[in-house]
Amino acid sequence: MFEAVIGLEVHIQLNTKTKIFCVCATSFGEEPNKNVCPVCLGLPGALPVLNREAVKKAISFGHAINATIHKRSIFNRKNYFYPDLPKGYQISQFEVPIVENGELFIDFEDGTQKRIGITRAHLEEDAGKNIHDGDESKVDLNRAGTPLLEIVSEPDIRSAEEAVLYLKKLHAIVRYLDISDANMQEGSFRCDVNVSIRPKGDDKLYTRVEIKNMNSFRFIQRALEYEINRQIEAWEDGVYDEEVYQETRLFDVNSSETKSMRGKEDSAEYRYFPEPDLKPVIITQEMIDSAADIPELPDQKQERFVKEFGIKKYDASVITSSVEMARYFEEMISEGASPKNSVTWLTVELQGRLKNGLTIENSPVDAKTLAKLVKRIEDNTISGKAAKDVLDHLIEKGGDVDEVIEKLGLKQLSDDSAIEAMVDEVLSNNADKVEEYKSGKEKLFGFFVGQVMKASKGSANPAVVNKILKEKLT
Ligand code: ADP
Ligand code: MG
Ligand code: ZN
Repeated sequence: MFEAVIGLEVHIQLNTKTKIFCVCATSFGEEPNKNVCPVCLGLPGALPVLNREAVKKAISFGHAINATIHKRSIFNRKNYFYPDLPKGYQISQFEVPIVENGELFIDFEDGTQKRIGITRAHLEEDAGKNIHDGDESKVDLNRAGTPLLEIVSEPDIRSAEEAVLYLKKLHAIVRYLDISDANMQEGSFRCDVNVSIRPKGDDKLYTRVEIKNMNSFRFIQRALEYEINRQIEAWEDGVYDEEVYQETRLFDVNSSETKSMRGKEDSAEYRYFPEPDLKPVIITQEMIDSAADIPELPDQKQERFVKEFGIKKYDASVITSSVEMARYFEEMISEGASPKNSVTWLTVELQGRLKNGLTIENSPVDAKTLAKLVKRIEDNTISGKAAKDVLDHLIEKGGDVDEVIEKLGLKQLSDDSAIEAMVDEVLSNNADKVEEYKSGKEKLFGFFVGQVMKASKGSANPAVVNKILKEKLT
């Protein structure tokens, strides 16, 4: 009788070549403090200049989520002290973000969708990194000044599962748009989770707890499950007011618990004020229009796949959940595999076999090869069961589909006369059973099929065996 209320703040790193207010490179994994200059080091007198590419990417995101794009927005200083923030403030947007009032749709297994509102998306600079190494703490400022788009959702999400669906959809959208590599391990897509609970039916918002800096779907799910449960238990035990208060918590991966980190700052504590070194961001209609030319997005692709290929809506949502998978699927179809079998062989058989860091992107079996395998099932060269062995082999050792079929001796026998000979033999060896069958014991049919399959060592095409047996037994 409780429900969770969740709102997410996602930081994505925009994939511009240079930082948001200077011309330092944004490349990842460089030697510490290599990509720095007076601007991103916060040296006195250095002045920021806004990167136009970052603005364009924010605008195309605004189009993708059907949002208002403000023609005039401003930057603010968000003041706080931390060693990885050399200026003592972060340049961010506060009152007027560049993008406001958008939406995205999450997909459920039954093919239905739910709308999640997006409050705003604003541009800001990233901080550097503190590295704690034994007794020493070091600061690497390569990341300081990297452009971020912070995307804030409405508290429309109602469970840990919905939160993950939202994040996956958002991840897909920014990858389709190619505005971020959204690499979670490298921190290009990270998330702060806000969560409260309430009795079902109540539409008030209760006290929320924030869980900071999560960069794995699985951890986000586990953190939310733990935290929702903690709050419900506190309510049921009558200690809600003592145990649930506005604070920031961290997820401990080892114990799967969330733990108190610090009290939550109120926005007033940041002493936001307009950034005096930057003019307001003025976006022309022309800039808005030229950024409107965005690639086909997951929802549109999904709809098209359903219409064009007749596949189920949910299957289409799985396939379009990543741009690589969608491309792979489309290539299979253009190679001549049927849509229905392509769905199964891509999402179940191939996906299920990709382990140890293998993904669709670096899959040892490419779309052309998988399509060929599917076609060999469809033209009755091999059975579906044999195809699984072929796929195992292709993943381990590679090779050509036809050669592997040959090598493993999996070619299916579809030649009518060869199968007919086996059927005749089975029937004459089992004359008594044939009599029983003819006098009404029809379930013996399966026995005959089994015997023929056995005689062919599993290579006979079962459809052909069935057909011939039926002819002979009537
Ligand atoms: P702040 O700027 O202090 O982080 P915001 O008002 O911008 O706070 O909200 C941050 C996030 O918290 C948003 O995603 C919002 O949807 C979510 N949120 C706000 N109130 C609640 C609540 N009571 N329960 C769950 N999430 C909430
Ligand atoms: Mg916030
Ligand atoms: Zn710089």
